[in-house]
Amino acid sequence: MRKKIVAGNWKMNKVLDEAIALTSELVNMAHDEVTNDAEIILCPPAIYLSTIQKYIENAPHFSVAAQNVSDKLSGAFTGEIAAPMLQSIGVKYVLVGHSERRQYFGETNALLAEKVNVSLAHGISPIFCCGESLDQRQNEDYIGFVKNQISESLFHLSAEQILSVIIAYEPIWAIGTGLTATSEQAQEMHAALRGHLAGKYGEEVANEISILYGGSVTAASAPELFSAPDIDGGLVGGASLKSREFTNIIKAR
Ligand code: PGA
Repeated sequence: MRKKIVAGNWKMNKVLDEAIALTSELVNMAHDEVTNDAEIILCPPAIYLSTIQKYIENAPHFSVAAQNVSDKLSGAFTGEIAAPMLQSIGVKYVLVGHSERRQYFGETNALLAEKVNVSLAHGISPIFCCGESLDQRQNEDYIGFVKNQISESLFHLSAEQILSVIIAYEPIWAIGTGLTATSEQAQEMHAALRGHLAGKYGEEVANEISILYGGSVTAASAPELFSAPDIDGGLVGGASLKSREFTNIIKAR
């Protein structure tokens, strides 16, 4: 049984007081909704990771993820955060390859493969983001494009390693635009990606890997999306900044 996961990507939002308030509200509201098969992952800006960890200490199904990690382990890389540092404060997850990192910071599939490696080597599960642009969806083999992102960044891993990876399919045209993929569009891609994983690692392994959907998920769109057979939860941006809305998304899981 794959775990249902709802992750909230706060991106570069919230000052400290707001971050604490949001976390406290979520922990209180989600309390009764969370069952053993669920996991809620908050992805605050790195500066708040330790603080947020304290606020979720008594909420067993909550954890935190970093939004990014360096591919280097230490040294003269001003402003970067390394996997051993995240490990040393007990962070268990990290977003790798978010489309904003690919687009604004030039992160390539090859660099992301390195980030996946350093994360896994330090006991941190990558939440590996992939997805096509609108132009690619309209003019190219968009499923092939996303499969290739996965092959180039993940297929060097062993079966044991890939079982520690979570995949998040986030069509770029649906991120922050209010345009959610329909559950049919998302299911089509998720099934194709699971088939791709099965081709490399076998069905048993592919069936264990959680594939989340991201892109303008709201409390209104979540129930239908999350009921699709290959959608194992969501990676939520804008709607994760509002406690009631995010709690309702958690409930939809
Ligand atoms: P969005 O962002 O929900 O605001 O579209 C999703 C994401 O970028 O992870």
